[in-house]
Parts: sequence; C-alpha cells; structure tokens
Amino acid sequence: MSVATNLLRLPPLPSTKDLIRLYKLRALRQLSQNFLLDERITDKIVRAAGLIHDHIVCEVGPGPGSITRSIIRKAPKKLIVVEKDPRFLPTLELLQEACSNHLELDIQIGDIREYNFESGFAETPKQCWHDHPPPLNLIGNLPFNVSTNLIIRWLKSVSERKSAWAFGRTKMTLTFQKEVAERMVATVTHKQRCRLSVMCQLWCDVKHKFTIPGRAFLPKPDVDVGVVTLTPLSNPLVKLPFDLVERVIRHVFNMRQKASRRGGACLFPPELREELGLKLFRIADTDYRARPFEITTEEFARLCYSYASLCNEYPEIQDYDFRAPKKKVFVAGEE
Ligand code: SAM
Repeated sequence: MSVATNLLRLPPLPSTKDLIRLYKLRALRQLSQNFLLDERITDKIVRAAGLIHDHIVCEVGPGPGSITRSIIRKAPKKLIVVEKDPRFLPTLELLQEACSNHLELDIQIGDIREYNFESGFAETPKQCWHDHPPPLNLIGNLPFNVSTNLIIRWLKSVSERKSAWAFGRTKMTLTFQKEVAERMVATVTHKQRCRLSVMCQLWCDVKHKFTIPGRAFLPKPDVDVGVVTLTPLSNPLVKLPFDLVERVIRHVFNMRQKASRRGGACLFPPELREELGLKLFRIADTDYRARPFEITTEEFARLCYSYASLCNEYPEIQDYDFRAPKKKVFVAGEE
C-alpha cells in the first residue's frame, strides 16, 4: 500500500485556522506554542513516519489538531493524543466525533512525560526486540525544550526496553530545532557532532527527514524546524546502563577541542587520573589524542565498556564526580 494514499476521508469540518479563531486559541508563549496550519506540511510529517494504517499512534502535543487530521486520514487503528493545554479539548473532541465510525481517538489531557504507554498500548502484543518494529508510532511537534528533554528520557527507555519500548522497537517521528536535528544525525568529524549525536546513534537509526521553514508556523518561531525519525536499532551498539553511558560521553565531550583523554581522565579521582585516563583508551583501542568529535560511535561504545570494566576493577571510582554538584544533563540548545 502506498504511504501517499489517504485511506479515510473526514466529514466536512471547519479548518483548524477557523477553529483557532472560533475558540480564541491564542498561542501561549509560556508553552512555546507554534501551530502548523498547512495540510501539505502536516501530511509530509505523517508520511515521514511510514505506514501507520492499522497501527496505534500516539501524538504528543496535538494542539488544535492539524497533524491529528493528517494522522486520522491514514486510518490508524487507534490514535491517542496527549495534550497539556486543556483549551484544545473542544477542537480535539470535534475530531473525535468526526472519526468515531472509523477509529478510536483517545484524548488525554496531561503531560506526555507522565503518560503511561504500557496501558495505552496494552492491546498490542509485545514483540521480540529483533523483530520488525511493532505497529506503534510516536509522532509529535512539541516545543523544542520539551522535545530535547523528552528524547533523552525516551532513549533511556529504549535502552531499558521499557514504556513504549516494552512492545519492541517503536518508531518516533518528532520535530526539533533544526540545529538540534543536525546534531542528532551528525557523524564523526562533523562540526555539529556532540554528545547528543552519540547518545542517539548508540541506540537508534536517526534520520533528519526534512526541514520546515519557521515561516510555516503561527506564530513564526525564530528558527527553522527539523523533522527527525528515530528507529531503535535491533542491535544497539552498547548494552550497558544508560546512566553509565551518559556519564562517559559527557566527560569525554567535556573539552571539545582538546584530546579526548583530557575529558575522559576526569572520570577518575586525581590520584588515579593519569593512569586510568590512559588505560580507559587503551582497553577501548581508541586514540586518546583524537578530539571527542573525531571518535566514532563504535569507539564510544568501546570506551563505555572499558569504563565499566575499570569500575569493576576499581569499585571506588564508580561514584566519583569531579564536578559536584553535578552539571545539569542535557539542556535544550546546549553545546
Ligand atoms: N501539534 C500542533 C501543531 O503542529 O500545530 C501544536 C504544536 S505546538 C509547537 C506544541 C503543542 O504541545 C502545544 O499544543 C502544547 O500545548 C503541547 N505541549 C507542550 N508541552 C507538552 C507536554 N509536556 N505534554 C503534552 N503536550 C505538550
């Protein structure tokens, strides 16, 4: 079946633009709301998710519902929308009513970070991780601060095969500030390569599908927007606890323009730094003189295993933090 086909026709409805006017849904700056009203763009986002017919789709932050309409037209089995702002309930209920003969539209007013995917997706059988991705999709155009924070949480759940990933390799299609999208896919030596690139690529196949110009949104944000898909790898490059991996990558990237050994050595207390800083790279068979952005994702995986083996050998290093209180982990627009 072609992904370009619309499988379901909605009955005549007021346009999203008219509904925004009718219900006086002014975009709230504190929730970083920017609406997409062009159907060609919302259709393109949904096409980027691939086949969703008969899938259970969770849309995060539907707002007045323009991407929601594009999803409905693809006739998923069930659509769950999770929206923090209750002002959008009437417009979402209108869509719920309009598609009620064809699919279940489950409206959840709340924060996506608290949504329980295990119950939302419960009717889907759990698949083996190595199978094809399950018939589940996460799609969303969220505020940038939320989507960057969310992707780190979700990568952790991917690594633990929990939440939406208890069912298998659930695919994500999300929007990010264009620069963040570029960082997520940046390969070794690329100028945008950073710890977010490595974290994403250790666990997922990441694609920057296309860019939406800022002028397509209402109100217009200061930046352009990248649409990114993430499909969990059937063989993740690393199978270690997420926090350990995050710790190693954060330290190595700490001094971006310096030899990686400089940042990596800070994983260890001063008295062991010289010795273990070198040993970390030696065990990983990785050049300690390379700058962090010159280290491949596979080498980063080996550095994580090397650090894990050093933690076994020297248990006292496990809780060492050269920068207490700890630096905040991942802030939107950082690096
Ligand atoms: N999807 C709509 C569109 O493309 O026109 C709205 C996009 S707007 C950038 C982001 C939406 O996410 C808003 O409706 C906002 O209220 C909602 N939102 C923000 N933070 C959220 C959160 N933590 N959980 C769920 N929804 C959230």
